[in-house]
Amino acid sequence: MANTGALDSPGKSKGGDLAETAQALRDSEAQLRSIIETVPDALIVIDEQGLIQSFSPAAERLFGYVAAEVQGCNVNMLMPSPYREQHDGNLARYLGSGERRIIGIGRIVVGQRADGSTFPMELAVGEVKLKDRRLFTGFLRDITERQTAHERLQELQSELLRTSRLSAMGQMASALAHELNQPLTAVINYVQACRRMMGGDAPQFDRLQEVMDKAVAQASRAGQIIQRMRQFIQKGETEHQLEDINKVVEEASALALVGARESGILVRMELSAGLPPLTLDRIQIQQVVLNLVRNATEALAGCKRRELAIRTGQPSDAAVMVEVADTGPGLNEGVKNQLFQPFVTTKPKGMGLGLSISRSIIEAHGGRLQGGANPDGGVTFRFSLPIPGRAE
Ligand code: ADP
Repeated sequence: MANTGALDSPGKSKGGDLAETAQALRDSEAQLRSIIETVPDALIVIDEQGLIQSFSPAAERLFGYVAAEVQGCNVNMLMPSPYREQHDGNLARYLGSGERRIIGIGRIVVGQRADGSTFPMELAVGEVKLKDRRLFTGFLRDITERQTAHERLQELQSELLRTSRLSAMGQMASALAHELNQPLTAVINYVQACRRMMGGDAPQFDRLQEVMDKAVAQASRAGQIIQRMRQFIQKGETEHQLEDINKVVEEASALALVGARESGILVRMELSAGLPPLTLDRIQIQQVVLNLVRNATEALAGCKRRELAIRTGQPSDAAVMVEVADTGPGLNEGVKNQLFQPFVTTKPKGMGLGLSISRSIIEAHGGRLQGGANPDGGVTFRFSLPIPGRAE
């Protein structure tokens, strides 16, 4: 972008060269400034200490600070805990080791606005090496309403639907056994009838074919039921890997909270630092978090105080816990003792499957999911997950 043509042009006086170079620099700076000011993504430039050097107008709109307020401040003020506390260390580690955790790699992270509320954003970080120091540029995009968030949400929801089908399958096993029993009984009856028709003094060969066709039809009906069941539970396998629970929770919450700002919900992420990695199926655990956060945001709709806290922690040597607490109206008296039963719902369009599936997922991971009223109103759902290699 910089116009260095003036430096190379022959036949100019030294003073003229310098003046042109200075002008070229001013031009390119003006160009850069206008780009920074108009680019729809927020741009934040920090130095090696993490101190903010430049804060674009889009960043001002996104975070609710004016550039002058944040200039020279540590960029970690724009992150919720525990990222706030970890950022200096991460930056120092990168400067020391060159190990890339985020630079050059786009990620969905959570930002924190001036009013303390948090929101999902996509962050791409680049590095600029100057003569004697380095700067880092962060391009940020609020994905609250963005397509990618919707797509990811859809992916999670379709997974949820699949799991709900799986769970529904369990519920329906006896109904299906009954359904299978019917055609099989009919086949037995028809075949017995055929035997009677063929035997005796006056075999009824004329009706035999008709009854055998009926037996075939019933047998293939049984086959179709089995086929349907197999399609239903396809993709049933799970994928367990070592994961950072904070990242899993952060991403699921970021997606579940799409639109939360518009609903005036104040979200706090209180993710504990230093949690050990867990062996889990990321998509499944994200479904649980998504479910709990969505239930909480639905419960908060229409409430005066709309606060939601998403926490992680390690209550014991053997387990990590994840907590979703809201200040909503609390649990409905009629359902509070059967929350985890399938098809129990108080919502007009609810399926009543979310909590029962969530509990099956957590139990399949060796953990526990519980929910209960908060002393000062609202509900907290909490699940634990075992730390690998440490029996409880
Ligand atoms: P659904 O959301 O389809 O109703 P769930 O199994 O997820 O199914 O939830 C079952 C019921 O539990 C809800 O209908 C609601 O009555 C209650 N519930 C769940 N989460 C909350 C919450 N955070 N606050 C109040 N009630 C809740």
